[in-house]
Amino acid sequence: MSTRTELAYGTVQNYVNGKWVEPSEEGMDVLNPATGEAIASVGFSSEEDVDAAVRAGQEAFEKWRRRPVEERIQPLFELKQLLEDHQEELAELLVQEHGKTLAEARGELRRGIENVEVACGIPTLMQAGHVENAAPGIDETAVRQPLGVFAAVTPFNFPGMIPMWFLPYAVASGNSFILKPSEQDPLVPQRMFELIEAAGFPEGVVQLVNGSVDTVDAILEHDGVEGVSFVGSTPVARTIYEKAANNGKRVQAQGGAKNHVIVTETADLEFAAEKTVGSALACSGERCLANDVAVVEESVYEEFVDLVVQESEKQVVGSGLDEETTVGPLITEEHEERVRNYVETGVQEGAELILDGRDVEVPEYPNGNFLGPCLFRDMTADMVIAREEIFGPVLGLMPASDIDEAIDILNSSDYGNAASLFTGRGADARKFRHDAEAGNLAVNAGTAAPMAFFHFGGEKQSFFGDLHAQAEDVVRFYTDETVYIERWPDS
Ligand code: NAD
Repeated sequence: MSTRTELAYGTVQNYVNGKWVEPSEEGMDVLNPATGEAIASVGFSSEEDVDAAVRAGQEAFEKWRRRPVEERIQPLFELKQLLEDHQEELAELLVQEHGKTLAEARGELRRGIENVEVACGIPTLMQAGHVENAAPGIDETAVRQPLGVFAAVTPFNFPGMIPMWFLPYAVASGNSFILKPSEQDPLVPQRMFELIEAAGFPEGVVQLVNGSVDTVDAILEHDGVEGVSFVGSTPVARTIYEKAANNGKRVQAQGGAKNHVIVTETADLEFAAEKTVGSALACSGERCLANDVAVVEESVYEEFVDLVVQESEKQVVGSGLDEETTVGPLITEEHEERVRNYVETGVQEGAELILDGRDVEVPEYPNGNFLGPCLFRDMTADMVIAREEIFGPVLGLMPASDIDEAIDILNSSDYGNAASLFTGRGADARKFRHDAEAGNLAVNAGTAAPMAFFHFGGEKQSFFGDLHAQAEDVVRFYTDETVYIERWPDS
């Protein structure tokens, strides 16, 4: 590991019970994916570190849940403004530890802020139901009540947004909350916690615990944790779901994805090509909403392939800090190697690689994890590259005879996170909405990303649980609906 003095951002700290403390165990370096340089180091939290956070959270919860709801949202209004004021600084930090472009980082932070805004509406979001005269002389009410300490374990690809799918709602509804961010890019979460501290939450209500697998296990095994929100890859999501349930905890676990875009012969093909390429290549393909399989009606297949090639050739690979860059580096050297192996697998399987980004050179950044856009045509649904999540700048195209066959191909996937349809026919759109098996659907839009006031969640192997992230769904996850029956015989 690099020594502390060499590191631009020093050692990442935990935020526990209102104090900044170093995690007890040695961890790893945080690398800039464009330069390969270590910019910080992050320690991993031990069982004792987790225990300290859970105990502080339990103590804080007893007072916090009694605060009037209007008081509980005041720090969130502060936080919203602080995040706005520091958005540019956060975006630059995000690019340095993650690699995505500045425009992508700004967009990510915007969605994070929107979640804070929506959680400020908790006085309405927490309302349940009331029925007068449910039985003779009896009124019946449902009350949403907080439960205690919740934790969220989040992935590397949106360090500034995904924690906000959970944190503001958990605390606004009266719980205390612990975030365990990805160890690969923990600097933005740490900076956001400095802003959280400035926003004025009481000690122990919102805490940050850094770490990796053992830290997550300590969270899952702690009796004081009521529930866990998870976002990450499917194998880990399944494990978290099983372990949390075994330990009697609430759990919502969002997993990986393999998303399809369908293009019919009535679509505006130029528009569809631009949006399809944007969806597949944004954030270098490291998005759970990236559509990286395009299923195209055969009557327009050749024309669409040509348009997608033209669009992909316009992309600029480079450091995310350069404003003209559209495809930044991949998160780590290992991940770059993994994506390159998928490209090789596609070639071996017989798909035709019509754009090969493997030789891309970015002279100013010789040690970055760069891979240029890779395009396959004539992929078939049974190929590994059509079935497994690649999480890189790779798009595969295949023909289908009509929309029915295209939807069958989409539905044959093990995953069900998102899908898009480009068409000029309302009947196609209706069929797609009815039959496509994915949690987020878009028509004539490249990426099916729900706003913060709708829930976010997939189906099949992309999600384990029932209540999703964001908005009312996550408020229901963070509360128990107590039913209260009342009779006054003299009334
Ligand atoms: P990951 O599963 O490797 O890690 C996610 C988190 O889990 C991290 O905080 C990590 O420290 C922790 N973790 C890793 N292995 C663990 C284990 N064995 N036990 C306990 N904890 C463990 O995911 P990643 O590489 O950080 O993120 C990319 C993945 O996340 C992709 O598969 C992507 O599709 C998925 N993702 C899904 C959504 C969604 O909404 N469905 C959103 C974003 C990302």
